[in-house]
Order: sequence, then structure tokens, then C-alpha cells
Amino acid sequence: MEYDVVVVGGGPAGCLAAKYAAEHASTLVVEEHAKIGEPIQCAGLISVRAAAESELPRSKFKRCVCNEVRGAIFHPPSFEPLMIEGQETKAFVIKRDIFDAALAEEAARGGADFLMRSKIVGIKQKRVGSETLNELKVVSNGKELKIKARVLIGADGASGITQRFLGLRPRRLLSCVQVSGIYSGDTDLVELFFGKSVAPGFFAWAIPVDEKVARLGLCIDTAVSTCKPLQLLGTFLERLKKEDKFKSSFDFLTGVIPLGPPKRTAAPLVMLVGDAAAQVKPVTGGGVYYGMKCGKLAGRLAARAVKEEHNRGVSRYDKLWRREIGREIRLGMLLHELRCRMEDKDFDAVFRALADEEFLKTIARRGDMDYQSSALLPAVRRLLVQPQTLALLSKLLMKKHKL
Ligand SMILES: Cc1cc2nc3c(=O)[nH]c(=O)nc-3n(C[C@H](O)[C@H](O)[C@H](O)COP(=O)(O)OP(=O)(O)OC[C@H]3O[C@@H](n4cnc5c(N)ncnc54)[C@H](O)[C@@H]3O)c2cc1C
Repeated sequence: MEYDVVVVGGGPAGCLAAKYAAEHASTLVVEEHAKIGEPIQCAGLISVRAAAESELPRSKFKRCVCNEVRGAIFHPPSFEPLMIEGQETKAFVIKRDIFDAALAEEAARGGADFLMRSKIVGIKQKRVGSETLNELKVVSNGKELKIKARVLIGADGASGITQRFLGLRPRRLLSCVQVSGIYSGDTDLVELFFGKSVAPGFFAWAIPVDEKVARLGLCIDTAVSTCKPLQLLGTFLERLKKEDKFKSSFDFLTGVIPLGPPKRTAAPLVMLVGDAAAQVKPVTGGGVYYGMKCGKLAGRLAARAVKEEHNRGVSRYDKLWRREIGREIRLGMLLHELRCRMEDKDFDAVFRALADEEFLKTIARRGDMDYQSSALLPAVRRLLVQPQTLALLSKLLMKKHKL
């Protein structure tokens, strides 16, 4: 089998890359699972902008949506909760399996082929005559296959084979657990719970699916947490039970989220997209929007590169995606590092300093889920002008931190 472009992985980044590559080049998606979108490893919260970026027809997107939210309640460890509430829908709570399957269908309609239940187990680059090709060893429905690809797009998630082939790793890994459960909260608002005692290096969440059900989960940064996520989830659910908010759970998932892209995400004839390139918002762990955005870019460049002698398209990939979202990710990583150094009392101090009605209203108006510097920079500025939090920030910056 031979294709111009082979995409490893049929998640959102892979499907969008395939859709765009297939416009001008023969394209194959190789997916190890039997069904696109399964198993689900996501809380399913995506912005209104991400919904548009998916390019799904309205009727198809509607089928993925369980709920719409307008804002968030932030719970510090001991200080009173803060609410940021917009007037209109800011984000959708989606069924990721249906969403991913719809993206795959659109890619297939656009001309991409799919090879399901097929896992890439080996990658080599070979010189054939005057050109270099990627040669992929695939175990497909129990049989071994060889597939040749002019350009390879690695959309195979946080610790996939394409990343290993290029010898690259994300800077940090979050380990995540989530249940679906019977929950009583505001269906319009997600709830985020902060504290080293709650989720070291990250936060816990309650994302309302409807009036009765929410997705309840947390991530930890594996470099700083001494506790296991499952143990922390137990403590978190117990707390919600005591507060009379949570009754019982009926669903369970685990997953990892990569943070901090490696120095390069492309090599001759290979590009990494989505979680494979850690194109993830470091502050919230959301990767669907950036993954789709960079997937499209990689697909476009791959199709161009197959027609070029020197693959200039592929070599420009790194520069082009970083121009769009590199600054956001860098700022997010800096704040993530600080978050990893914070004790419970530090979270309380930060939230106390931000608890101002006018300030929260401005953030509700201007804050942007995908370009988080819109809210984070004003928040940092506010912390810098208050003597207590200025002192805290300098202490956190100086703090020796074993990673
Ligand atoms: C608990 C949790 C909650 C999250 N919540 C959110 C959220 O609310 N909003 C948000 O935006 N993001 C969220 N994320 C992150 C989001 O799920 C990812 O960023 C997103 O799925 C990345 O898309 P992707 O296409 O890069 O990779 P993936 O969706 O991981 O897809 C990779 C695909 O590659 C396939 N694959 C891997 N290796 C091979 C191989 N060797 N051969 C063939 N196929 C292979 C896999 O089977 C998989 O289908 C969450 C993540 C977790 C773990």
C-alpha cells in the first residue's frame, strides 16, 4: 500500500489533518481502535470557537452537544468561591465519541481513507530511487502490513510511536481520572476546585452534562504529586457527597494530558499534531481546539510537500503553528510552573486578591477560553500591584522546585 500522506491516529487532530491533506493528496488514516472516538478520554468541554473550527455542519454538531455553559465557579481551598459568568454561551459540553466520529466522516467525505483496528508498530525512513519514503509497519486486524507514505503526520496522542520515532517528549505529563455521576449544581456553569490537597499541579472539575449528571474529575502533574489521582478522586467525591452535591457515579475513565511542546515538532517528511506535539492549553489542559487548528495546517502543508522536491512545507510547520499559539502556550507553561509550587494557602491568597466584582465582570466580558492570556495577563497584573501577592509571586519564582 502506498499513500502520499499517512496520518497516525483518528482523533480530532488526525481527522482535520486528513481532511485537509485529502483535498490535494492521497491520504490514509490508520487508527488502532475499531471505532473512532472510543474509548473516550476527555471531559468534552470545548469553546464556541472550537465548535466552528471543527467545520461540522450545524445539524451534525448539534448531535454531539449535551449542554451549553456561560461561565465558571472557581473554588479555592478555603476562601469563598469566585464566579465568572457571561451573558451568552461560552462553551459546549460534548459527547467526544460522536464528535470524533463526525470529524472522521467529514474527512472520509473529503476523500481520506481509513484503516481501522490497525496499529502502527514501526516507522523507518528509506531511500527509494531519488526519493525518501516513510515505511510503516502496521498490525492490521491481526495481520502485518507495510504501508509507504511520502509524508507522515503523527496524530497519535500523548505518548505515541511517532513522538518516540523522532526522539521527542512533552515537558510534563498530567495524569487524569474522571467519573460521570449524579450531581446537583448549576447547569450553566462549570466548577473548578483548586488546591495542592485537591489536585497537586492542576485542579478538579465538575462539568454539567444536564440537570442531573456531571463529569467529575481531576488531573495531577506527575512531576509534583506524591498522591495517586484515583486516591485524590476518592477524597474529592467524598467532599462533594458531604456537601450534598454528589450521589453516585456510573462511568469511569483515565487518561494523560501532555503539557509543553518539545523544541521541534517536525522532521523531514514527518509532522506531529495535537497531543503528539503537546499542542494543549497548559492552564486548563484543553487540547481539542489547538489540535484541530494545527491538524489543518499540517494537512495543508503535507499535501503541498508531496509535490515539492525539498519539503519546504514540512520544515515551515513548526514556525507557522508556533506563530499562532506559541506565545499562549509559553505563558500558560510559566503559570503552570507557578501553580505546581503553590500551597493551599497560596491559592487562597491569589483568589482573595482577584475577588473584586468589577474585575470579575471585565474578565467575564473579555476572557477567552482558547487565548487565555486575555484573562491571565490582567489577573497577573492585578496580583503584581498588591503587596501581599507580589511577595507571594516572587517567593514562588524563587522557590526551589524538584522536577
Ligand atoms: C480526562 C481528560 C479530560 C480532558 N478534557 C478536555 C476538555 O474538556 N476539552 C479539551 O479541549 N480537551 C480535553 N482533554 C484533552 C483532549 O482530550 C486531547 O487534547 C485531544 O483528544 C487530543 O486530540 P488528538 O487528536 O491529538 O489525540 P487523541 O484524541 O488522543 O487521538 C489519538 C488517536 O491515535 C490513536 N493511536 C495512538 N497510537 C496509535 C498507533 N500506534 N497506531 C494507530 N493509531 C494510534 C489512538 O487510538 C487515538 O484514537 C482532556 C483529556 C483528558 C485525559
